[in-house]
Amino acid sequence: MTRKVIVLGEIREGELRNVSFEGIAAAKTVAEGGEVVAVLLGESVGNLAPEMIQYGADRAVVVENPKLASYTPDGFSQAILAVVEQEQPDAIIFGHTALGKDLSPKVASKLGSGLISDAVAIEAAGGNVVFTRPIYSGKAFEKKIVTDGLIFASIRPNNIAPLEKDASRTGEVSSVSVEIKDLRTIIREVAKKAIQGVDLTEAKVIISGGRGVKSVEGFKPLQELADVLGGAVGASRGACDAEYCDYSLQIGQTGKVVTPDLYIACGISGAIQHLAGMSNSKVVVAINKDPEANIFKVADYGIVGDLFEVVPMLTEEIKSL
Ligand code: FAD
Repeated sequence: MTRKVIVLGEIREGELRNVSFEGIAAAKTVAEGGEVVAVLLGESVGNLAPEMIQYGADRAVVVENPKLASYTPDGFSQAILAVVEQEQPDAIIFGHTALGKDLSPKVASKLGSGLISDAVAIEAAGGNVVFTRPIYSGKAFEKKIVTDGLIFASIRPNNIAPLEKDASRTGEVSSVSVEIKDLRTIIREVAKKAIQGVDLTEAKVIISGGRGVKSVEGFKPLQELADVLGGAVGASRGACDAEYCDYSLQIGQTGKVVTPDLYIACGISGAIQHLAGMSNSKVVVAINKDPEANIFKVADYGIVGDLFEVVPMLTEEIKSL
């Protein structure tokens, strides 16, 4: 069974986020040989459409409007609903990002559709599309099949591999004009602070600090290690609550969910709520001075020691390679 799938490209600071390309790969699986249509929303975003096609979309639809310059749930939902009305897709894929988490339930409810959120894997066989998603804070996984109506899913960043970019791929780019009205939401650009450097949810390497880091200054050696590894700095809620860092860095059940190739937890005890956000990382290294700390139960490599000695040593070692 072939399907028409639309996939929302996510743009930050004028560039497409990786999750957009992962969404195209997911959409290809769901389409089962059908058409994949990339959708871009923003003030002036048409220049990014060819890249969505190079990553595998068959064509792109662009909605440009000054009221879409910044993300607002009202503006973006009106725009995407207009595209859905025009395209009549069988399936919709969003990223399970801060934007996707906010927008997808709103759009799903307007469409009277269900929503499979936070999918980490997708298989299509014999007409069924099977989505795998974590439950119980990542302790178990469930499989979901949509048996009727629109398939609407959001995918967790860093879990579905994007297709290889093919610079020679071309496709039609069309535009839909939408009158955005009743814009009730005014947002401050608080996200700016969080997006300096490597984006946490897309980072391949994360150096994360907990209450053991002890101060704002204490995060410096972690940032230095992150810099040499081309990674990002994250934190436990303990560190955020203690005001050692911004809440935008919080990883866990009530923070960001991350799946980097390498997660180095420094001075983090390993509370269940923290593990919910990072235990699916490919390799976990824990540095903690308490040999009984729970974090060692999920760590592939554990270092019992003082993070203020171990982290600078690691940085120097890596620099010397
Ligand atoms: P602590 O538990 O205080 O651990 C500090 C660790 O640092 C200790 O293991 C200590 O041995 C070690 N240490 C101290 N000094 C050093 C040193 N010099 N070198 C090496 N190690 C050292 N937490 C999250 O992280 N994310 C969430 O999303 C989240 N959501 C929550 C939601 C709810 C509803 C609730 C109730 C809690 C939530 N929490 C969350 C909080 C969670 O329960 C823990 O309180 C928190 O994760 C603890 O943070 P921590 O590990 O940094 O601090």
